[in-house]
Order: sequence, then C-alpha cells, then structure tokens
Amino acid sequence: MNNVAVVVVGAGQAGLSSAYHLRRSGFEPGVDFVVLDHSPAPGGAWQFRWPTLTYGRAHGMHALPGMELTGADPERPSAEVIGEYFAAYERAFGLRVRRPVHVREVREAGWGGRLLVRTSEGDWTAQAVINATGTWDRPFWPRVPGQETFRGQQLHTAQYPGPRSDAFVGKRVVVVGGGTSAVQHLMEIAEVARETLWVTRRPPLFRTGPFGQEEGRAAVALVEERVREGLPPRSVVSVTGLPMTEEVRRARESGVLMRHPMFARLTEEGVEWADGRWAPADTIVWATGFRPVTGHLAPLRLRESGGGIRLEGTRAARDPRVHLVGYGPSASTIGANRAGRSAVRDIRALLAASGRQTEDEEQAGDEERERERARDEEWAAAPVPAAA
Ligand SMILES: Cc1cc2nc3c(=O)[nH]c(=O)nc-3n(C[C@H](O)[C@H](O)[C@H](O)COP(=O)(O)OP(=O)(O)OC[C@H]3O[C@@H](n4cnc5c(N)ncnc54)[C@H](O)[C@@H]3O)c2cc1C
Repeated sequence: MNNVAVVVVGAGQAGLSSAYHLRRSGFEPGVDFVVLDHSPAPGGAWQFRWPTLTYGRAHGMHALPGMELTGADPERPSAEVIGEYFAAYERAFGLRVRRPVHVREVREAGWGGRLLVRTSEGDWTAQAVINATGTWDRPFWPRVPGQETFRGQQLHTAQYPGPRSDAFVGKRVVVVGGGTSAVQHLMEIAEVARETLWVTRRPPLFRTGPFGQEEGRAAVALVEERVREGLPPRSVVSVTGLPMTEEVRRARESGVLMRHPMFARLTEEGVEWADGRWAPADTIVWATGFRPVTGHLAPLRLRESGGGIRLEGTRAARDPRVHLVGYGPSASTIGANRAGRSAVRDIRALLAASGRQTEDEEQAGDEERERERARDEEWAAAPVPAAA
C-alpha cells in the first residue's frame, strides 16, 4: 500500500496541468502525489486520434502551463505532435507519470479520512483525488431500432481510422452527429466515398461571427450551470455552434454538408425515416460524442438524481476530497489548464486545514496565489475553443 497526499487519475491535458500545479505548490512527484494513466504512451486521448487530424486542424489547442508548444509542423498528425509535447513536458517537470496503470475504483479507505484508489498495479491511499479521466474511453452510441440487423459496418469516432479505409473508399456512408467531428469526417470521407449522407438530430448551427471572449464565457457559463445543478454536462460545442471555416463553406456549397433529420431505424441495407423514406448504406459512422469517464468513482456515490456529478468549481459537492478536472465546463484544453490550477488551490486549502502545511508554506502559497490571480486575468481574456 502506498500513501500519498494526492492521486491524479489521468495524464491528459487536465491531469498534467494538475500535476504541474501540485509540483509548483511544493508537492513532490512520486512522493507526495502520483499520476496514474492506463494508456500506453504520453498524449492523453490525443494519441488515439486519427492520422488526418493534423495539428493544423485541431482547433484552438492550448499549451500546457509553463511550457509552450512551438514550431510544430501543422501538417503532422496531432497524435504525434501532442504525444511528443506531453512526453517532453512530463520529462521537463519530472512528473513521473505511471503507466499503464488502470484505476479500477476509488472508495473510502476507512482510516484517517483517506480515499483508497484501487488499481491494476496495487493500491494507493490519498487525502484527495483529482480525477482527470476525460471522455475518450466512453464513446456514446445512441440506441436505434434495427441496429443489430444492419449488414454493413458501424463505427464510432473513437475508432475512425481516417478516410483511406475499406470502410469508406467507394462506399455509401452515413455520418450521424452534429459536432465538429462529424463535419470533419464528412469532408474527408466525401473525397473517397461513392456517396455520403449527413444525419443530425437537430439542425446544425453554424457560427459565422467572431468568437471572442464574451461568446466564450457565455458558452462555458451554460455548461457550468448544468454541472452546478447536477445534470450531465453537455459538450462545449453544443452551445457554441460549429465554426464556419473556408473549408466548411466550400463543403456546404458542394452539398456535402446538406443535413437530413435523424432516421427512425436501421434496416439490413440502410437507414429508414419514420415517413417511410429510406437510403442505402454500407457504413455508418456514429460521430455522436463521448460521456465523462467516471464509473470508477461509483463507490463514492457522487452522482445526483439528475444523472451528473454536481460540482462547486472543480470540487465534487458530495465529497470535498474529490475534484473533477476536464469535466463539463473545463472539457477543453484551456478549461483543463484553469481547472487544474483551481483544483490544486482548493486541495492545498483542504490539506492546510488538516494540518499539512506550515506557516512558511502558507505564506509562499499567498504569494503564489497573487501571481495566479494575475495569470487568471490573462487567461480570462483568451477565447475559449469549442470542444469536438
Ligand atoms: C476529436 C476531438 C478533437 C478535439 N479537439 C480539441 C481542440 O482542438 N482543442 C481543445 O481545446 N479541445 C479539443 N477537444 C477536447 C479535448 O479532448 C480536451 O480539451 C482535452 O484534450 C481533454 O483532456 P483531458 O485531460 O480531460 O482528457 P484526455 O486527453 O482524454 O485524458 C484522459 C486520460 O485519462 C486516462 N484514463 C481514463 N480512465 C482511466 C482510468 N480508469 N485509469 C487510469 N487512467 C485513465 C486516459 O488514458 C487518458 O490518458 C477535442 C476532443 C475530441 C474528441
């Protein structure tokens, strides 16, 4: 059994930002805190993204705190660029991420007010847990009648291999979903497919005007409100609309982004609407988003009757030892940066209250907080990107 002050679960943008702030606050990596991640390599979910999602096409990727990402070739896959950047970051700050370590569950340790973190590589106890597990491991597949009878291929964004795949070349492809991923898949697949069809539940909203500070704040506030009420968070893009780039404008003009309403069922050969219209399909791509990965927190009973985890800032309302970073309003690279910092600030206060910090550390903390406030203002001025 290993006893630490803080366990960080996940080493994506949210986990690394949290680890950085822990280290800056005087917590020693591997001694006072550990970062556990079940993926094979650095990069968080970016390492699994499709090769045609180049760095230049990732919209509004913010650097991690304390180290810029400079000079990256926009034509290289984001998976490689971000993977290398995260690896360099972990090394530069000596964060000692342990991988692959799968966190099975977090529960009461039953002594000293601690939490027990059960993993594939042994158990840890901690005074606080920062959960930064993202959403990638929990793709959302809507249930549609006839799904089992469809004879073609079905795949989710999480398995999207890029357009040059047998699933798409020369095939009739239906893409379901109203987010950025659906739009990107369609524009790529249309180049190689026999035909494509775009289906969404609600008419997509394209954003033509500028997306600045004001709009970013308003969008995040909407997601925040749901999380404060204990409702399942919506993606940031659901409230920001889809960016109207030059590429998107062209795809709309050529008819690739002509949207159809959601079909009622799948048949053996295709999709069928409630009014009897149907369309043949060889492949269906479910670009229907992701849900937060929180199953391992179930023993703590954090979930509200509305289905979500109610947060005050990043802190779980039902357990002040648990913080969710990269969840709901902080599910963007810039949001994860801010949330990591705020979670650490809060945990420091929690541990100070339980007697961990000395007066000197408190004073150093005050000075650091002053600097953070200045950085906060800087960050608040930056626009918030739309998450896919
Ligand atoms: C296709 C796509 C494109 C996007 N593009 C952008 C963009 O351009 N700009 C932007 O700001 N945002 C973008 N987003 C949102 C983006 O993913 C987030 O902003 C950010 O990268 C998420 O970071 P994270 O640390 O919360 O999650 P992740 O990067 O998913 O990291 C979570 C980590 O937790 C680990 N983990 C999960 N469960 C466990 C467990 N039980 N035990 C141990 N480890 C576990 C995983 O291995 C993973 O490494 C995009 C999202 C998608 C799906």
